[in-house]
Amino acid sequence: MLEVRDLVVRYGTATALDEVSLDVGPGEMVALVGANGAGKSTLVNTLSGIVRPSAGVVRLDGRLAQVPEGRQLFASLTVETNLRLGAWGLARARRDPARIYALFPDLVALRGRPAGSLSGGQQQMVAVGRALMADPDLLAVDELSLGLAPMVVRDLAEHLTQLNRERGLAVLLIEQETTLAFSLCSRAYVLEAGRVVASGPSASLREDPAVVSAYLGGL
Ligand code: ATP
Repeated sequence: MLEVRDLVVRYGTATALDEVSLDVGPGEMVALVGANGAGKSTLVNTLSGIVRPSAGVVRLDGRLAQVPEGRQLFASLTVETNLRLGAWGLARARRDPARIYALFPDLVALRGRPAGSLSGGQQQMVAVGRALMADPDLLAVDELSLGLAPMVVRDLAEHLTQLNRERGLAVLLIEQETTLAFSLCSRAYVLEAGRVVASGPSASLREDPAVVSAYLGGL
């Protein structure tokens, strides 16, 4: 579904991504983990065309939607308008947010509220809902857990797992929270200073001494 080959991204003379290759198969949940500045956001922004690569290939079979880092909602617009903006350019029939309210019933009572007045967890629901409005085959989620309480993260993670299981939505989860990423995704890539330094089944990476010492608190 998604094939990234030898991707190179430069900002001026600095190399943010250095020959990165990764795959996400149809219906797969794959994690991309790495510390601050490793290049995770650069990768998602390259997938969605915001950043232009200097070299390499991105092949995507189907539609990609992105949940951007920091959610990037329109704070003064209502929840409902933010959701509708996710289906911008699609046929009118597909612009009805009813299916998003069915998925996140908590948003029904909040539909007329300015998005900026919601809690962090509620805003992340809107950001995920807005991305789902585009009916994606692949959802790229940049820092699902950022700034959110563990219980809220667990609830959002459960929604993603359900979408994956029931609708076959493929997910690329970009996370600094390695433990969360490994528990949600069967496969993962570890990015360090713009390079993939480890990849494979999450279960094996969890046992990899280098990954454990760098990302799992050296347990
Ligand atoms: P974070 O979790 O902090 O967002 P990240 O893994 O997503 O980190 P990126 O934001 O992709 O990392 O950044 C990768 C590298 O590229 C960093 O060294 C960063 O300083 C640099 N960088 C990112 N965006 C730009 C830009 N627009 N111009 C110049 N350098 C940039």
